[in-house]
Amino acid sequence: MCVSAESACVCVCVCSMLCPASCLPLLRELAQWRCLLGWHRHPGVGASSAAGLTTNTGQQQQHQQQGSEVKGRASRPVGRTKPLPVSQYSSAGCLLTLHHSEKPDHEEVCEFRPYTCPCPGATCKWHGSLEAVMPHLMHAHKSITTLQGEDIVFLATDINLPGAVDWVMMQSCFSHHFMLVLEKQEKYEGHQQFFAVVLLIGTRKQAENFAYRLELNGNRRRLTWEATPRSIHDGVAAAIMNSDCLVFDTSIAHLFADNGNLGINVTISMC
Ligand SMILES: [Zn+2]
Ligand SMILES: [Zn+2]
Repeated sequence: MCVSAESACVCVCVCSMLCPASCLPLLRELAQWRCLLGWHRHPGVGASSAAGLTTNTGQQQQHQQQGSEVKGRASRPVGRTKPLPVSQYSSAGCLLTLHHSEKPDHEEVCEFRPYTCPCPGATCKWHGSLEAVMPHLMHAHKSITTLQGEDIVFLATDINLPGAVDWVMMQSCFSHHFMLVLEKQEKYEGHQQFFAVVLLIGTRKQAENFAYRLELNGNRRRLTWEATPRSIHDGVAAAIMNSDCLVFDTSIAHLFADNGNLGINVTISMC
C-alpha cells in the first residue's frame, strides 16, 4: 500500500469532516490519533475522498507530512510483509487474526480476555480465568451469602443508607452461579436511583440460555423486570450505564420497603 495515499486519506477524511482553516491544530492532533489507532487503513476511502479534494493544497501537504511521519513510526515494528496481527489474547486461546482496525473492538469483547472480579465497586483488582472466579469470590469476598434455588428473595437491608451503596448476593441453580446486585447511586446528579441486575458467572453465550425476573411486591403494587442475565464479562457498570436492569427511584423503593428493608423476588429460568 502506498504511504502517501494512506496519509492523504487521513487528511482528506478529517478535512472533509471538519474543515474550517481555523481548526488546523485540532486537525493535526486528530490526524495523529487516527494514524496511531490505525483508523486510516480503510481501503477505498482514500481514493473516493481524494477525488473531491481540489483546494487547500498547502494544508493538505502539511497533513501529508504529519501523517506519513506518524505512520512511519507506528508501522515500523511490523515490517514489510505484514502478517495480520493476532488478538492480544491469543496466548489465552483466541484464534482470530484481525485487521489492525478491528483489533481494539474485538479485544474489548474477546471471550479470552481475562475476567475481572465481578464485585461492584472497583476496589478489588483481581482478574483471572472464568474457572477461577468462583474460588476467588469464596476466598476474597466471604461476606457474600449464597442461596440455593431458582426462586429466592434477595433482601437488601437499610436501603436508606446515604451515598452510593451496593448489595450483593449469590444464587445457585441450574448448576450455575448468578450474582445479584442492587446498587444505589446518583447516575444523574441529585437524582438517586436503584439499579438491580442479575449476572451469570459465565460467558455471554452461556448467559443467553437463561432468563431472570426481578419483582418488587407491595401493598396492591407490583414492579417486575424480566431480561437475560448479563455475563460478568460485561459487568455491572455496563448494565447500569445502559439501564439494562431494573431501575427505580427512592420514592418507589419506599413504596415497597418494609422498615428500610427491600425484598426483591428473584426467579431464574432456562430458555
Ligand atoms: Zn478473541
Ligand atoms: Zn474480588
